[in-house]
Amino acid sequence: MSKLIAILAGDGIGPEIVGEAVKVLNILKNNGLDIILEEAPMGGAAIDQTGVPLPDNTLNLCKKADAVLLGAVGGPKWDNLERAIRPEKGLLGLRSGLNLFANLRPALLYPALASASTLKSEVVENLDILIVRELTGDIYFGQPRGIRTLENGERQGFDTMHYCESEIERIARVAFESARRRNKKVCSVDKANVLDTSMLWREIVTKIGKEYPDVELSHQYVDNAAMQLVRAPKQFDVIVTGNLFGDILSDLASMLSGSIGMLPSASLDSNNKGMYEPIHGSAPDIAGQNKANPLATILSVAMMLRYSLQLPDLADKIETAVKSVLDQGLRTADIARSGEKVISTSEMGDAVVAALKM
Ligand code: NAD
Repeated sequence: MSKLIAILAGDGIGPEIVGEAVKVLNILKNNGLDIILEEAPMGGAAIDQTGVPLPDNTLNLCKKADAVLLGAVGGPKWDNLERAIRPEKGLLGLRSGLNLFANLRPALLYPALASASTLKSEVVENLDILIVRELTGDIYFGQPRGIRTLENGERQGFDTMHYCESEIERIARVAFESARRRNKKVCSVDKANVLDTSMLWREIVTKIGKEYPDVELSHQYVDNAAMQLVRAPKQFDVIVTGNLFGDILSDLASMLSGSIGMLPSASLDSNNKGMYEPIHGSAPDIAGQNKANPLATILSVAMMLRYSLQLPDLADKIETAVKSVLDQGLRTADIARSGEKVISTSEMGDAVVAALKM
């Protein structure tokens, strides 16, 4: 049966980079991949058309779809709207509406781009880490929270960190399953020396780990993990962690690879249905100029094929094509060193399509 893919281009560079990813999907389609692509407005574009960032029709399409490809949302045009109807609110609505609890963010560095990292080449060359971050629980959602006034008149801010066993179990399973497709190592990151939530986290991850005897499990405290990510990042394969620690560590890890324009992400529900998007925003400073790097979005398509459509061979093909264009020396402005020839968004998309050996 055909797989339905919802295409949400969004704002800023969104339509440009998604356009290149759609070129790749169409080539796969022409070569036998049974997919239907359906576009819908989202973010600022949806506000302009309908007054809200996530129209019901868009959410319904995404619920019906087997996977969602998103460009990016937001931009200065909508910055002064009230928070409830800002473009970013649409993103949160999509995540909660689709129950996307697992965020997968690879930090990988192609050898051809090793010099783009702020770390020494030998520390990051061939880096390939996957950060699995729990996305719907933790201190970001825990109640009670707020700012209260104490008896002495001083104000106090407070938040609640909590995780249920079932929440930890399901994210741990995503990490172990992902590790099985990779180098079979999971490092669980917590703060079990201080936090009760983390003590439970560690206990449950250890319990689930016993179901995966072929995957090596280790634990690190989050402060040490931050240090190790900068000191010797290649020791990691899959890192699994909660929402708060994952927010910080995934940004840290993504910067090891030098360019924001290279990194894809996936957010999955419990049936591996997912939303796939580049980690960067809508880059209003370069929007509409055919300058943006489309590779993060194209690599998001590879993740979609691997995780939601269960087609790892096709995912590998796209990743190999991206590696090949980089090896050929093709560079958009964000990954070019001074003096290197720069190509456009569409030229980069065309180069990936040309490198895809179908
Ligand atoms: P940004 O990621 O859009 O841009 C940061 C810098 O990186 C800019 O200089 C930009 O030109 C550059 N950049 C980003 N993507 C690039 C690409 N593919 N190729 C080349 N260069 C690229 O972050 P920002 O400027 O802080 O945010 C801009 C808007 O995007 C804001 O409205 C913000 O809310 C939104 N945003 C959306 C998402 C999302 O849709 N998931 C994520 C982050 C930010």
